[in-house]
Amino acid sequence: MSKHLIPPVVVAGGGAAGMMAAIAAAESGAPVTLLEKTGRLGFKIRISGGGRCNITNALSEPNALITMYPGHGRFLRDALRQYPPAKILDLLHRHGVATKVEAPYDKIFPVSDQSQDVIAALEAEMRQLGVVVRLNTAVRGIHLPDDRAAGFRLADGGLSHAGAVVLCTGGKSLPRSGSTGDGYPMVEALGHQVTPLFPSLVPLKVAGLQSLAGVALRNVEGSVWVGGKQADRPWRGDLLFTHTGLSGPIVLQLSRAAAAAVDAGQQAQIRINLLPDLDQAAVDQMLQAVWQDRGRQQLSSVLHDWLPKSVVPVFLALAELPGDRKIAELGRPARLTLLQRLRGWPFDVTGWQSFDIAEVTAGGVALTEVNAKTMASKIVAGLYFAGEILDVDGYVGGYNFQAAWSTGHVAGKQAAAYVKALSESAP
Ligand SMILES: Cc1cc2nc3c(=O)[nH]c(=O)nc-3n(C[C@H](O)[C@H](O)[C@H](O)COP(=O)(O)OP(=O)(O)OC[C@H]3O[C@@H](n4cnc5c(N)ncnc54)[C@H](O)[C@@H]3O)c2cc1C
Repeated sequence: MSKHLIPPVVVAGGGAAGMMAAIAAAESGAPVTLLEKTGRLGFKIRISGGGRCNITNALSEPNALITMYPGHGRFLRDALRQYPPAKILDLLHRHGVATKVEAPYDKIFPVSDQSQDVIAALEAEMRQLGVVVRLNTAVRGIHLPDDRAAGFRLADGGLSHAGAVVLCTGGKSLPRSGSTGDGYPMVEALGHQVTPLFPSLVPLKVAGLQSLAGVALRNVEGSVWVGGKQADRPWRGDLLFTHTGLSGPIVLQLSRAAAAAVDAGQQAQIRINLLPDLDQAAVDQMLQAVWQDRGRQQLSSVLHDWLPKSVVPVFLALAELPGDRKIAELGRPARLTLLQRLRGWPFDVTGWQSFDIAEVTAGGVALTEVNAKTMASKIVAGLYFAGEILDVDGYVGGYNFQAAWSTGHVAGKQAAAYVKALSESAP
């Protein structure tokens, strides 16, 4: 190897992490090739946020940001410092993509509401930096001639030589996007551990709710309970009943803890507070007033004050409360049951919907074997990781892309430093 001929950094996977790794490596002066299995880059960026792309979040302080990753946020602290949300926004703004912050969760979107603008900006940046993009090129293994990653073996039998490789093949959620979990066996073959994989940000299965499919509950508060203990923070927002159970923003946020419990053979329960603006004493007072003033009304008609009409019979049946009885005929036990159910309508989770529709994969390349400051493998020299292939996952809110931008940047930059050092040390 000649002293000044820098060997290329080759990146596998043209999603958010892979494009960012390619950009960072090229910016740092390395020749870069990006290999993507499908016929286009950034499929998940395109469909994300309902086609609008929730790029990142206005929450920018690393110590606050890491709390938004129920899957190992602390691992991200250094990468988020090196590449905070402001940096991806700078890149997009330089390419003419204006961005906006949306309440109530401070999600950041392109002003155009067009995810394609984000992809176009990343592609333009790569073009300017001279990144070579090879589409329809699947990798199937890491070339390891002498204990050092020296390229990718390709599915067509070829070899893509490299001084360092960055593996950004994503997780296994939404496989129609091209992310089919290809990277996991590749690194297991090299001695890396992959922690158990399960979906996050996924609808949950609950029996007996078919009659409510399509009905939404607005601005309720959900919590997840495992073994009688609250297993994650509560979330406020909308809930949607589906043919197979529960979905909607708050259920997706709670799904990670529920899915993990179900996979571990534990009973998970989602509890919905239908009146989250009132504390227990206020709800109690309100029900006492109902019992005093509306004795002639049927229980079911009183409930129409708080619940969509179609939900009332199901709510009452599950609470074993007689909707056709007049309030005056119902005693204190019924009132207390109603109080409890309004503040915590419980749903036993029987499972999660498939990886086919999950937004994120929890689990992945074990973080004990990856250097959090460089994204380098601690097992194989010249191998770097970024994005969802790592055992890191965040809540809805732009946090998963932010993890991809930050780890992609660090991995690309460090892979470039590695190949430059290789060329310097060459005889
Ligand atoms: C419907 C949906 C909506 C989402 N919305 C948001 C959102 O608004 N905000 C947010 O922060 N997150 C969102 N996410 C999550 C986010 O999309 C992912 O966390 C993020 O895309 C992960 O980036 P990545 O580059 O690591 O992996 P991916 O985006 O999955 O990219 C991996 C790439 O590698 C390629 N690849 C796979 N195997 C091979 C191989 N063998 N050889 C070569 N290439 C290969 C794939 O084709 C793919 O292009 C959403 C996810 C989904 C499914």
